[in-house]
Amino acid sequence: MKKARASQEVKAASRRQFLKCVGGAAALSTFGMQVANAGAEGLPRLDESDPTAIALKYVHDASAVAETLRPDKDRYCFNCALYAGSETDDWAGCAILPGKAVAGRGWCSVWAAK
Ligand code: SF4
Repeated sequence: MKKARASQEVKAASRRQFLKCVGGAAALSTFGMQVANAGAEGLPRLDESDPTAIALKYVHDASAVAETLRPDKDRYCFNCALYAGSETDDWAGCAILPGKAVAGRGWCSVWAAK
């Protein structure tokens, strides 16, 4: 009896682990789709005066950012993990700014390493 119960608990634990993996994969897939969609052509450019842009301290020209805010001079949108374009794209989508394009030479305070 104990053996059967232990076997059921192992199966239930395996099922839970499987569902967690599937859920995680689905979440990653959704994030990936958002990043891919953000790179679509024809997106309107993010306005620096947009409230979200202001909150993130986003600018089109990263070289204009004060050194105290951006001490690492190599950080640009084009090399940010959230940028949907390639390093040669002048403008592309950003995963945290859906529906808008940001400048490849831009920057914001959320910059993340690839
Ligand atoms: S998150 Fe990255 S790509 Fe998006 S605006 Fe900020 S620095 Fe640019």
